[in-house]
Amino acid sequence: MLRCRDIPDLATDYLEGSQPWFRRAGMMFHLAYCSACRAYMDQLAKTRRLLANGRLPAPDPETERRLVMAAKLPD
Ligand SMILES: [Zn+2]
Repeated sequence: MLRCRDIPDLATDYLEGSQPWFRRAGMMFHLAYCSACRAYMDQLAKTRRLLANGRLPAPDPETERRLVMAAKLPD
């Protein structure tokens, strides 16, 4: 039986349909009862669609500032 911590490692193969049937069935079973992982998978699928379409919206200025600050290495 899959646990929540297993889902991220399997998510891409699940979305691409490249898993063996028994693994896909395990994912479907887990997603049927786990709303947190359903939300994770929905967000991942949405992000992949936006990236594939080249339509990822630009971040607002405050989010961009936070991203830049987070990416800076300590001196
Ligand atoms: Zn879960």
